[in-house]
Amino acid sequence: MSRRIIKDGAVVSMDPDIGDHQRADILIEDEEILAVETDISDAGAETIDASNAIVIPGFVNAHLHAYQSLFRGIIGDWTLHDYVENVHGPIDAELRPRDMYLGNLFSLYEQLAAGVTTVFDFCHSINSPEHADRAIDAHEDAGIRAVFAHGPPNGTGNREKWHDNSDLTHPEYVRDLREGRLSDDDSRVTLGMAVRGPDFSSQEVAEQDLALAQELDVPVSMHAGVDMYESYDTDGLLELLDDGLLGPHTSLVHGNSLTAEMVNRLADNDVPIIVTPEIELQLGYEWHSVGPMLEAGRGPSLGSDIVCNVAGELFTQMRMALQTQRALDNVDRIERGERVDSLTVDARSALEWVTTNAARDIGLDDRVGSLTPGKRADITLISTEDINTLPGHDPVETVVFQANPSNVDTVIVGGEVLKADGELVDPLYPDLETEFREAADRLLTASGVTR
Ligand SMILES: [Zn+2]
Repeated sequence: MSRRIIKDGAVVSMDPDIGDHQRADILIEDEEILAVETDISDAGAETIDASNAIVIPGFVNAHLHAYQSLFRGIIGDWTLHDYVENVHGPIDAELRPRDMYLGNLFSLYEQLAAGVTTVFDFCHSINSPEHADRAIDAHEDAGIRAVFAHGPPNGTGNREKWHDNSDLTHPEYVRDLREGRLSDDDSRVTLGMAVRGPDFSSQEVAEQDLALAQELDVPVSMHAGVDMYESYDTDGLLELLDDGLLGPHTSLVHGNSLTAEMVNRLADNDVPIIVTPEIELQLGYEWHSVGPMLEAGRGPSLGSDIVCNVAGELFTQMRMALQTQRALDNVDRIERGERVDSLTVDARSALEWVTTNAARDIGLDDRVGSLTPGKRADITLISTEDINTLPGHDPVETVVFQANPSNVDTVIVGGEVLKADGELVDPLYPDLETEFREAADRLLTASGVTR
C-alpha cells in the first residue's frame, strides 16, 4: 500500500461540500483520495510539498482527436472544407498502425504535461483493428486516464463510404474490444464509441450505432448541430431523443447551430454538449453554445478537438470559451443601450467546464473531476512561484487567467506521479522523437498534402 500527502496547497476541490482551502492537505492511498483536510499527519506517507502551488482536480479534456499530433503546424489557415478534404482524405488514408501509436503517444504526453489527467479520445480514423489496438497501446503506455472512443475508418475512399450520409453501421471490432482488452470499466483506459450520428450517417445507422452503444454500455459521442455539415439534421436528433437514444452518456460535440429551444430540450434530457471553442472560432461555425447552455441550466464541457491545429491544452480553451461568452453578453447589452457594469460568467464556471462538467459529460464523474474522498487521485499542481503566476492571490483566477502548461508542476493519475518538479517522469517519447518526425514527414509526402 502506498500513501502520499500533498501538503499545504491552496486547494480548489471543485466539490461544493469540500470547497476551497487556503491551505490544506490531501491524503492519497494507492489510487484513491482518502481525505482533504488541514494538517493531516501520517508518518508513513511520502510528502509532496504544495506550499507554493494551487491544487486542482486534473483537467478532463472532453473531446480531442489524439492521433492528429502528427500533422501539427499545417492547418492553422485552413477552413473546415480544407481540413476534411486533406486530413480525412489523403492523410488519413496513409495512416499506418504504427502512426496511430506515435500520434497518440505524443499527443497524450502533451496532455499530461499540461495538467490533463483524463481524455475522451474521439478516434474516428481507425482503418483496421490493428489501428485501434496500437492507439490503445499508446494510451496505456502514456498512463493517462482515457475513454478510448472507437470510431469508423476514414481517409480517401473510406470517408465517402463511412461519413457521407453513410449506410454502413459501426465496425464490429468495437464488440471485440468490449469483450476483450477494454472489458474492465475500472481500468485507467476504458471503452467508448465515436459514432457519426445523423449529420454523417443515415438516420437508421445513427439509431443502430446508438443502440449498439447502449447494448455495450459505453459512453458515446458524435459531432452534431453544425449547419456547415453536409447533412445537418436537427430532425434526426429530435427523433433520436424521442426514441430514448440520447441521454447523459451520449454527448453531442459543437452544437453551434442548434436553436435555444433545442438546447433546452437537450438540457432537459441531460444530453451533454461539448464545446471546442478555438476550432469553432476558426472553421466557420456559428458562435459557441455556452450562452444558451447556461441559460438552459446545464453548462458545457470543453475539449481541444483538432490538436494538429490548435493547442491541445485546456488553459487556452477555457479562456477562449469564457471571454468569448463575456464579449457576446457585453455586446448584447451595449446594443440595448445598457452599460456593462458586471460580468455574466465568472472564472469558476470556466474551471467547472474542464473538471466537474467534463467528467460528467464523458461518464466518469463517479471517479474524477473533483478532489473528493473516494474518487481516484487524479490531481494537478500549478506553481504559484513562477513569473506569470506570482503571487497567485485568488487560486481560481490564477488558474483560469494566468496559468499555462509551463506552470504545471505535478500531475498525478490514479495515485501515480506522472509529472514532478515540472518534468514528465520517465516519458517514453524522447526515444521516439526521430521516428515520430519521420512518420510525420512520410504522411505529408505520401499524401501529397502541402501547407
Ligand atoms: Zn472533433
